[in-house]
Amino acid sequence: MDAARAGRLQGRSALVTGAGSGIGRATAARLAAEGARVYTVDLQGPVDRQADVTAPGINAALVSEVVARHGGLDILVPCAGISAFHPLEDHDDGYFEQVMAVNVTAVFRLIRDAVPALRQSAHGRIVTIGSTMARFGDAGLVAYAASKHAVLGLTRAAACELGPHGITVNCLQPGAIETPMTAPAFTAMPEFKAYFERKAALGRLGQPEDVADVIAFLCSDDARFMTGQGFFVDGGAMTRQ
Ligand code: NAP
Repeated sequence: MDAARAGRLQGRSALVTGAGSGIGRATAARLAAEGARVYTVDLQGPVDRQADVTAPGINAALVSEVVARHGGLDILVPCAGISAFHPLEDHDDGYFEQVMAVNVTAVFRLIRDAVPALRQSAHGRIVTIGSTMARFGDAGLVAYAASKHAVLGLTRAAACELGPHGITVNCLQPGAIETPMTAPAFTAMPEFKAYFERKAALGRLGQPEDVADVIAFLCSDDARFMTGQGFFVDGGAMTRQ
């Protein structure tokens, strides 16, 4: 990494959930490499704080902890998420509600609870994690697609509300990325993996770092006039019909 980017987030305080795995882990590493002090949260694994983001009151507690540890909060990346393939008729209420609880409600709560701290920052940044599934749907992904459409709407409305406070809110929408979330499906169905490789104009699946690098850009001053947007990081998959 060049020297300019290595210091791009120097002195910033960041909170990343889902940071024990996949995209969240790569994002935490990338923000730290650019100089940020990163507070990492996940259900398990080598993170600063093991927590379930759906637990009552947890998001306010996480914000308090990062502010106490780092003296403030500049960057919020709620990356924790869940997904699984289930035919619509197998979507029982509990499964649908759990997907919405992790992918939407916890994101809403964390943003809401972080606003007072982010308003104190001169560089407030929120990057939510959507999906190409917020543009199209797919069989077996009713709950997941609904949750990612909701995240995009949440992002746009929050950007309107928080813009006057100098806080940008953007939604990073990955395509098919090789992470522990997608590994079971790609292993069980090689044809599914090949389909996504063919669909991407760049002819490959994404790696977590492909996404993390763009998140770091959105968290930087370079992206200071961008807000309320969804950005596909999908190797050009959305360019094909
Ligand atoms: P991942 O490797 O499974 O990482 C997600 C992390 O979130 C896991 O460590 C998971 O813990 C954690 N998590 C799940 N529920 C949680 C909870 N209630 N509280 C705290 N942490 C929780 O998946 P990923 O692919 O990096 O996904 C990261 C984000 O990108 C998700 O929002 C996902 O929807 C989105 N995304 C991924 C892709 C893709 O192709 N990979 C595409 C579009 C969007 P456990 O592993 O212990 O459950």
